[in-house]
Amino acid sequence: MSLFQITTRRLVSQAYCGLKPASSKKQRICFEMTRPSSNMADFRDVFAKAKHIAIITGAGVSAESGVPTFRGAGGFWRKWQAQELATPEAFARNPSRVWEFYHYRREVMLSKHPNPAHIAIAECEARLSKQGRSIVVITQNIDELHRKAGTKHLFEIHGSLFKTRCTACGNVAANHKSPICPALGGKGAPDPDTEDARIPVEDLPRCQEEDCNGLLRPNIVWFGETLDSDILTEVEKELEICDLCLVVGTSSVVYPAAEFAPQVSDRGVPVAEFNMHTTPSTDKFRFHFSGPCGTTLPPALARHKTEIIV
Ligand SMILES: [Zn+2]
Repeated sequence: MSLFQITTRRLVSQAYCGLKPASSKKQRICFEMTRPSSNMADFRDVFAKAKHIAIITGAGVSAESGVPTFRGAGGFWRKWQAQELATPEAFARNPSRVWEFYHYRREVMLSKHPNPAHIAIAECEARLSKQGRSIVVITQNIDELHRKAGTKHLFEIHGSLFKTRCTACGNVAANHKSPICPALGGKGAPDPDTEDARIPVEDLPRCQEEDCNGLLRPNIVWFGETLDSDILTEVEKELEICDLCLVVGTSSVVYPAAEFAPQVSDRGVPVAEFNMHTTPSTDKFRFHFSGPCGTTLPPALARHKTEIIV
């Protein structure tokens, strides 16, 4: 990409500082700073022309629905944070405790609902599909709120709280039961002084496939595990054909999502970031909109005046 393209792609703000006293009769440009645009009208022009829109979403979108992440300051379940329980080693050591943690998270989701960001994305997908245009959502979130909002074309790259995988036969199945098994009923309280339920492994969720009865685990990509390569291949294909990419509620610092948007940006496709704050990737993108995505996204994805509704 030429320097010309770079400077015309972005708003260039020149900051003058360190002016010498008038007697010096000399001005000095202290620094020149490029930054992404936050001009919504310009974004809307790009949006109106886009045929294949990829939307990458992360924890910020779920946070606005009140979904706890069990990470960061104050994010504890009993004495632990997600990265201590969401590992294959923790599950091997204490499957009862890990299942209590996930049972709690599943139950919490019964009272959580899609927020205006989830709904704006789902409504936009339905509307654009009637115009021969597409939206794909690539999410790091495991709470299925995009699905609940009505999103159809969806890749949950970190799995789902509501899918299980058999540790014996590998079968993956959707499971929305509450509780997921009788032994977990009433368990999973998050308070730090709660004792482990110590549920015998034979009473934890078991595979329903004929003659299997293997121990089930949440179908979630845990710390130290690799992402499903079939899903990644599909995601790569989507990123190759997209002509607009939105990065919503994620700091884009975790691989592989951290690479998705910069990779799209590198081939000259506009990327728009919607986040509470700027992120380490912000300067790589054409647009940045600060604030809660439940506020910034609906007007960004609303019907454009050039759209012909069938
Ligand atoms: Zn099985």
